[in-house]
Amino acid sequence: MAREFPIERMRNFGIVAHVDAGKTTTSERILFYTGMTHKLGEVHDGASVTDWMEQERERGITITAAAISCNWSKTLVEDRKDKSQMYNFNIIDTPGHIDFTAEVKRSMRVLDGAIVVFDGAAGVEPQTETNWGYADEAGVPRICFVNKMDKLGADFDMAVKSIEDRLSRKAVRIQIPIGAENDMSGVIDLITMKAYRFGGEMGIVVTEEEIPENLLAEAKKWRGELIERVVEHDDALMEAYLGGEEPTLENLKNTLRKAVLANEIFPIMTGTALQNIGVQLVLDAVVDYLPAPTDLPPVQGVDPKNEEVTLERLPSDDEPFCALAFKLQDDKFVGQLAFFRVYSGVVKSGSYILNASTGNKERIGRLVRLQADKRTEIEEVYAGEIAAAVGIKEVQTSNTFCDEKSPIILEQIVFPEPVVAVRVEPKTKNDQEKMGVALKRLSDEDPTFKVSTDEETLETIIAGMGELHLDIIVDRMKREFGVEANIGQPQVAYRETIQRGAEAEHKYVKQSGGRGQYGHVKIRIKPLEPLAEDATVPKNVTREDHFEFINSIKGGVIPQEYIPAVMKGCKEAMTRGFVAGYKMEDVSVELFDGSYHDVDSSEIAFKLAGIHAFKEAAQKANAVILEPVMKVEVRTPDEYMGDINGNISSKRGLVEASEELGGKTIVNAKVPLSEMFGYTNTLRSMTQGRASMTMEFDHYEVVPPNVAEDIKKARGVRDTAGA
Ligand code: GDP
Repeated sequence: MAREFPIERMRNFGIVAHVDAGKTTTSERILFYTGMTHKLGEVHDGASVTDWMEQERERGITITAAAISCNWSKTLVEDRKDKSQMYNFNIIDTPGHIDFTAEVKRSMRVLDGAIVVFDGAAGVEPQTETNWGYADEAGVPRICFVNKMDKLGADFDMAVKSIEDRLSRKAVRIQIPIGAENDMSGVIDLITMKAYRFGGEMGIVVTEEEIPENLLAEAKKWRGELIERVVEHDDALMEAYLGGEEPTLENLKNTLRKAVLANEIFPIMTGTALQNIGVQLVLDAVVDYLPAPTDLPPVQGVDPKNEEVTLERLPSDDEPFCALAFKLQDDKFVGQLAFFRVYSGVVKSGSYILNASTGNKERIGRLVRLQADKRTEIEEVYAGEIAAAVGIKEVQTSNTFCDEKSPIILEQIVFPEPVVAVRVEPKTKNDQEKMGVALKRLSDEDPTFKVSTDEETLETIIAGMGELHLDIIVDRMKREFGVEANIGQPQVAYRETIQRGAEAEHKYVKQSGGRGQYGHVKIRIKPLEPLAEDATVPKNVTREDHFEFINSIKGGVIPQEYIPAVMKGCKEAMTRGFVAGYKMEDVSVELFDGSYHDVDSSEIAFKLAGIHAFKEAAQKANAVILEPVMKVEVRTPDEYMGDINGNISSKRGLVEASEELGGKTIVNAKVPLSEMFGYTNTLRSMTQGRASMTMEFDHYEVVPPNVAEDIKKARGVRDTAGA
């Protein structure tokens, strides 16, 4: 066996968009065009996208698969069946809705590049902005596709301006549309300086023509800008250009590729997926400008046995195998599929691998690759490739698979904590049993979805990133697992923290009969400072998310073996805060003194001493309740702006800025989550349904005293003012 495509001819990318911008339509077109292996321009075999989608549905594969593999030969290539000119694409699904942060974040991890789709009449929309931010964090190179240029109100310059203003000044046109709205009839490529039109059924016949006379001046103007922006990334080209020499086509493309790979330029393209204009050229641009796995730096990880040792793997078949499981998906024919991306090495079906995240050895039973119209069983998966494993016993999203002999844990994806919770109560005993299984399955799949049990009422609580996120989970529980359940009111996931430093001492001593207990600690606590970007954590400090433990014990006044127990005690004390019983966060604990007893000391005694000392210190440290504050964006016709602003203010919200875009006013605000339940309905009635909104978690903030009192009352906490 050998690889089907050399790694340099692979592209792993995603399509990112705001809901409704045309991601589905664009993806369908991509799968359709890539499925046609004959030369574009030939009369094809009569399959239209709709027929083709029907077949796809019958076979039970949809474009919602986590990753689909397809092949592409560039549009104007002579022989489209010539394997030596063909590229292999893996299209990785990225969800549009921002409640699915986890999905977006983890897909950003495994894709190497992205096509960002915009609605040509709306410009940049909020989810795109959020997803763009995640792509920035992950350093993912992007191509912008301004879609829907045929739509009433489509305005390419407006869309470009909104990209520049709201996303990045590094975006630059490499195409302009021929016409807009009803007159949209093709695109002009500013690199080749040719016009392209898309004829025949489904736009499959692509013709290259001269640029229409009336658009030549405009094309020249934007080409001028493009060249200026590209030559900045190559000294020799820059010098030649300043000397009056234009770069050659090849130089222009190569330098643009370099700049795109470095996230220095985001090329903007255009078209309309629905009217079959432009999509093939976007695929050509994926080949020309988005990275192959070999264009990426080596993947980083740590040694599971010693997390301080960082390890690297090159994107090569010759390295030891390592892969990231990025998505679990149920397939009605084969059961659970674990999609993974191989960063290095090769894995064979039937072989054993280590799941470094669980420590378990797992047998890779069958390996499958999903294509638009079929599932193919494969024998081997190579570096850079994506496939799904069937029948892995225990796997969670973001686990690392690796060669047992060269263990590595790839960098973990950091997910935000859930902010909304609801109680779920199974309707019958039978539902109760099934619900356990369903919730375990769903939380394995989605790291931002958490399940817990209320200690007092023993009810099940599910928590996620927003009302919609939980609605969908409940719906999946019903549809996929047949669980009927009653759902409670959404609750805010409050937190607690401290606002000043405090000290406490606790001596845990028991000497009545049997073996005694002795643990004595002195601790200092203070609000946790964020870690500077380049800071290194000293050896005596344990740093975790929202918690830090500093071991300042000198001269063995507490033996080393008991110190982890003290930390454990403090962490346990933090699981229930003292203001209203919410989880406490962002505390730095320093253990600076104490004592021990040769016979009576034990881990448990030190843990209990830690718990008591922490509680005592926290009482003195001005503990407060924190609430999640959401970033809210409302798009509305101007006339409703006054009402919307007034309503937001009445919700303890802060209107930050409003701007004009595509004939609508955009109101940006920060509003506490507790005030936002049911807001979509309020907005609908306030604006006759003409405004839309999105929100996502932004940060935690201290609640004002009157709200804190309400929260405490609701939790049955007696007034502790002054305590
Ligand atoms: P998604 O939510 O991003 O997946 O968007 P869809 O692909 O489902 O498209 C949303 C709506 O926009 C559908 O009604 C599509 O038919 C329509 N649409 C998609 N692409 C275009 C386009 O290029 N032009 C126009 N006019 N409508 C489009």
